[in-house]
Amino acid sequence: MDYQPRLDEIKRLLFGVLQAPQHLRALLPFAEIDVDLMQQVLDEAGKFVAHEIAPLQRVGDEVGARFEGGQVTMPPGFRAAYQAFWQAGWPALANAPEDGGQGLPAVLEAVLYEMLTAANHGWTMAPGLLHGAYECLRHHGGDELKARYLQKIATGEWLATMCLTEAQAGSDLGLVRTKAQAQTDGSYRITGGKIFISGGEHDLTDNIVHLVLARLPDAPAGPKGLSLFLAPKLLPDGTRNGVFCERIEEKMGLHGSPTCVLRFEEATGWLVGEANKGLNAMFVMMNAARLHVGLQGIALLEAAWQKASAYAAERRQMRAPGASATSLIQDHPAIQRILTTQRAWIDGGRLLAYRTAIELDMIKHHPDAARREAGQRWCSLVTPVLKAAWTRQGFLGASDCLQVFGGHGYVREWGIEQIVRDARITMIYEGTNEIQAIDLLLRKVLPNGGVALGALLDTLAADGPLPAEVQQRFEQLRALTRRLAQAAAGQAELPYWVADDFLQALALALLGWAGARIGAAQQDWQAPARALRHWVLPEFALRLQIIEQHLSETGTTHA
Ligand SMILES: Cc1cc2nc3c(=O)[nH]c(=O)nc-3n(C[C@H](O)[C@H](O)[C@H](O)COP(=O)(O)OP(=O)(O)OC[C@H]3O[C@@H](n4cnc5c(N)ncnc54)[C@H](O)[C@@H]3O)c2cc1C
Repeated sequence: MDYQPRLDEIKRLLFGVLQAPQHLRALLPFAEIDVDLMQQVLDEAGKFVAHEIAPLQRVGDEVGARFEGGQVTMPPGFRAAYQAFWQAGWPALANAPEDGGQGLPAVLEAVLYEMLTAANHGWTMAPGLLHGAYECLRHHGGDELKARYLQKIATGEWLATMCLTEAQAGSDLGLVRTKAQAQTDGSYRITGGKIFISGGEHDLTDNIVHLVLARLPDAPAGPKGLSLFLAPKLLPDGTRNGVFCERIEEKMGLHGSPTCVLRFEEATGWLVGEANKGLNAMFVMMNAARLHVGLQGIALLEAAWQKASAYAAERRQMRAPGASATSLIQDHPAIQRILTTQRAWIDGGRLLAYRTAIELDMIKHHPDAARREAGQRWCSLVTPVLKAAWTRQGFLGASDCLQVFGGHGYVREWGIEQIVRDARITMIYEGTNEIQAIDLLLRKVLPNGGVALGALLDTLAADGPLPAEVQQRFEQLRALTRRLAQAAAGQAELPYWVADDFLQALALALLGWAGARIGAAQQDWQAPARALRHWVLPEFALRLQIIEQHLSETGTTHA
C-alpha cells in the first residue's frame, strides 16, 4: 500500500483549529488568501504526490542511486518525476514572485513537503535542499550572482546542495579546512574535500549549484573564519567546473538520495555574503530548514501509521478482552495503544509545525514590529523542539508501527521496515538532536533567564482557554527554568547534562497544549487525547524529576 495524502485531516487542523487564512490575510502579500485557494493548492499537491511520487518509494529503496565513473544515476522514474515537479511550479510555491515563485504562504510549502516525504523521503531530499540555497542567495548574494542563479534555483530548474560537512568537521564546522583563494577577476578557486553531501551529483537537472563553506587564506581559525561560496557544476560558459563526485555512501536507508563524497579541485566559485561571515549567511535558512526536518519526522510517522492501521484492520489473532471470537488485532488494547499514541504525536506535531510555518511568514511580512518579534521568538524556541522531539518520535513511533505487523513487519514485503531505516537519519542531519537541545537551553532559554520562554508560554496561554494540567505544566517549566538559570551561573556544566531532558519536557508541554487545542475543536479526537493522557504526557514528570535530580546533586536548594 502506497502512502495516501489524507488532506481532510490536514485541512481540519489548518482551517478548523489554526484558522490559517484569517491570520495570513493580515499580511500584505496574502491579502487574497482564503480557504478555497488554499484547498485548491493542497488538493492539487495531494494528487501530484499520490500519482507521481508515492509509486516510486520502493524502487528508490531497492534500486537506489547508482555511482559509476563519477556519474550518479538516480533510480528509475526519479528524473521524469522531478522534471514534472519543477515544470508544474511546485518548488517555487512559496518563493517570491520576482524570482519566478508563486508567492504563496510558507505553510502550504510545509504541507507539500510533509506529503512528499511521507510518500518518498529519498526522492524528496533533492528538492528539499533548494529552499535553503534560495533563501541564502536571495538575502546574501550579489546582484550578478543573483541574476545568474536565483531564478534557476527558485524554480527548481537547477538543484542545489549545502556543502558543509568534512571528514573532521561535523557538528563542529569551525574545523572546516576547504580553502578558497581570491582571483583577480573577482572569483575564487576552491580546493578541499566534503563528505555526506546530499544530492552532490545526480541526473535530475542539467546543472547543480553547490553552496560551499570554505576558508580564505587570512581567515581566523574556528567558525568565525568561514565564508560561503557558490560553485556550480557547470560554469556559465557550459564547461565542467572542478567539482568531482568520488563515490556515494552505502547506508542504512534513504537509498533514493545519493550521499556524496565531493572533491573540489581549484573549482571556480563566487563569494555569497561577506568574507568570514559564511555561517551568518546560513542562519537565514536555519529555522526553515530545521522545521522541514521536524516535518519529515511527522511525515514518516504518518506513513508508518497508515500502513500499521491498514494492517491492524485486516489481521486477526486471538480474542480481544470481552470478544467471543478471534479478533482483529486493532481491537487488542496493546495495538490500540500503539496506534493512538502515534496519532496524538502526528496531529499535535502538525499543529505546532503548521503554526511555526505561519510564524515564519509573520516574521517576514507583518507590519507590526512587536508581532514580528513574537514570531521570531516562536520560531527560535519551537523549531529545535520540533526538529529533535518529532524526529525522535518519527523513528521510535515508526518502529512501534512495525511492531503492529509482528514478523511481517521485519520482512520487506510490507514496506514498513524501509520507513524505519529512512527515518533514522532525521535525528542526525541538519544539526544532531543533541545539538538542538544545547541550542535550545544554552543559547535560547538560559541567556535571558527564561524570559523568552516565559513570553512564548504567555502567547500559548492567551490563545484560548486551557485545561488546568496544561497550565500547570507551563508553570512547572517556568519555575524550573528560573532555577536552572540560577544554578547554571555557578555550575557551567549543569545545563549540558540536562539539555536533552529539558527539550523533551518542553516538547511534551507543547504537545499537551496542542492536544488541548485539537480536542476542543474536534469531537472525534477522544482516542488520541486519551493516549496523550495515559501514555505520553506522564513522561513530563519523569523528565522534570531527572532534571531535579541533577539540580539537587549540584547543591542547589529546592524551591
Ligand atoms: C544521509 C546523510 C545526509 C547528509 N546530508 C548532508 C548535506 O547535504 N550537507 C552537509 O553538509 N552535511 C550532510 N550530512 C552530514 C550531517 O549533517 C552530519 O553527519 C551531522 O552534522 C553530524 O556530524 P558528524 O556525523 O560528523 O557527527 P559528530 O559531529 O562527530 O557527532 C558525533 C556525536 O557526538 C555528538 N556531539 C558532537 N558535538 C557535540 C556537542 N558539542 N555536544 C553534545 N554532543 C555532541 C553528536 O550529537 C553525535 O551524537 C549528511 C549526513 C548523512 C548521514
